[in-house]
Amino acid sequence: MAQATEDQTTDVFIVGGGINGCGIARDAAGRGLTVALAEMNDLASATSSASTKLFHGGLRYLEYFEFRLVREALIEREVLLRAMPHISWPMRFVLPYHKDMRFESDTPTSKLLGIFMPWMKGRRPAWLIRLGLFLYDNLGGRKILPGTSTVALTGTPEGAPLQDRFSTAYEYSDCWVEDSRLVVLNARDAEARGARIMTRTQVVSAEKDGALWRVKTRNSETGAEHTHFARMLVNAGGPWVGDIIQTKVRLNSREGVRLVRGSHIVTRKLFDHGKCYFFQGTDGRIIFAIPYETDFTLIGTTDAEHPAPSAKPECTPEERRYLLKFANQYFKQDLDESDVVWTYSGVRPLYDDGASSATAATRDYTLKVDTSSGVPMLNIFGGKITTYRRLAEHALEKIAHHLDSKGKPWTAGVPLPGGDFPVDGFDALVEGLRRDYPFLDAFWARRLARAYGTQARDILGNATQAGDLGRNFGATLTETEVTWLMVHEFALTAEDVVWRRNKLGLRLTRDEITALNTWMAERRHTTTQTSAVG
Ligand SMILES: Cc1cc2nc3c(=O)[nH]c(=O)nc-3n(C[C@H](O)[C@H](O)[C@H](O)COP(=O)(O)OP(=O)(O)OC[C@H]3O[C@@H](n4cnc5c(N)ncnc54)[C@H](O)[C@@H]3O)c2cc1C
Repeated sequence: MAQATEDQTTDVFIVGGGINGCGIARDAAGRGLTVALAEMNDLASATSSASTKLFHGGLRYLEYFEFRLVREALIEREVLLRAMPHISWPMRFVLPYHKDMRFESDTPTSKLLGIFMPWMKGRRPAWLIRLGLFLYDNLGGRKILPGTSTVALTGTPEGAPLQDRFSTAYEYSDCWVEDSRLVVLNARDAEARGARIMTRTQVVSAEKDGALWRVKTRNSETGAEHTHFARMLVNAGGPWVGDIIQTKVRLNSREGVRLVRGSHIVTRKLFDHGKCYFFQGTDGRIIFAIPYETDFTLIGTTDAEHPAPSAKPECTPEERRYLLKFANQYFKQDLDESDVVWTYSGVRPLYDDGASSATAATRDYTLKVDTSSGVPMLNIFGGKITTYRRLAEHALEKIAHHLDSKGKPWTAGVPLPGGDFPVDGFDALVEGLRRDYPFLDAFWARRLARAYGTQARDILGNATQAGDLGRNFGATLTETEVTWLMVHEFALTAEDVVWRRNKLGLRLTRDEITALNTWMAERRHTTTQTSAVG
């Protein structure tokens, strides 16, 4: 049996390389703690690459009186935006008003309204939407983002794609974020601060060994097993949080999460402006239609109970039809199955608060320290991309005394890699790239600036022509960029690159992706052989 030695032992061992695991790894490493993180697949391979990609307060959660969550998230939007103006940007949301919009029947607001205004029969009155937006504007921290306004939909770009029955809309602010890049940038920063990030590494068991955790991992590619020792175990397994408690740590706990699948569909671009739509349905739910990857529109999401974390989430034909039908209540253009170019699904690991419907289950997070095995373990239930940094701060607060850690919160205002430029400096960054690298066209320069921010220059180096960047895999993806992703961003396969480090999977052909995968496999082989010889 492996013996614990000082240098093998970390303060914190994190299970799960989604946003919560990577956010905690970064925060903990920055506080001077020693950290190891194991992710069984690629970083952000589960829920954290399948979100709607909004840093948002969650307007609809106001109807559930989730004021703590909404306020924290609203304040957080701008803190995050400043720290990562490359992967996050402000967006305006257009909410067309129609008198038939309904509440979900079991929100506290709809129940109250049912008592005091029974004649509304579940309809959402305009004054209530205005009140919600007023709260949204004023609950916290809004300095950069513009507030709510009213927009005419007749004869305006915002109204052009919508049916004529919509004449007025409200417009409010939230922010976009590239979710999977957010995860990888947190992992990179954690690594730069000393954390050990292990991908394709599954935690197969964790048990008490004296005053420590003995954690066994298995490499999912080579099968190699390793033993690690840690003073604190952090379970950031997202949908697997219950599985980790019950089958990896074998604790006798009934705590778990409610798994709620959300699916999105992607179509070719449906409108010609940069704003999003917030559509309210007659079933009380809402969906977004968002400009996506320059030439596409993202529509989602659904709320469906999901059987188990091991069941791969996929957009079912019913969910696809539901989203198309919902969008067709608003858009002039009648969408059908043939308009869908891509779909993706993720599973929300929601804290099980006993709510009756999936839509109503809380989106807030709960952190629980379990010491029943004699060594401390922190379990994370729920959470949103938007609150990951605050969740990490709360997590560190909870575990500090178990580790005698004196580190203070530090992440607010500290940029993520490549995000060290002013919040309104994105256009200047793109212009600078195009001036210094004239071979970049507008799409390419914007894409690199969005993905890598100020570090785009580190990738482009001394290149004076496209050919200097090596092989072109298609859609502006070059050998130099892929090498960067493999060396600095933990990418191992074409799928890691074209669906999580970027979204060029929407533009590359199947053959191009296969060729990229072959190239990456060969490069890994050569690198392994070279390092074996060296
Ligand atoms: C459809 C949908 C839309 C959403 N939209 C938004 C939004 O717009 N804004 C927002 O703020 N939030 C949104 N969310 C919520 C947000 O995406 C999640 O709260 C967040 O991504 C959860 O992150 P996580 O790190 O907890 O989980 P995950 O990202 O799932 O990470 C958990 C990781 O643990 C790994 N793991 C599990 N078991 C093991 C093991 N034994 N060993 C090693 N690794 C293991 C998994 O492989 C996985 O990568 C949305 C969620 C969904 C599903």
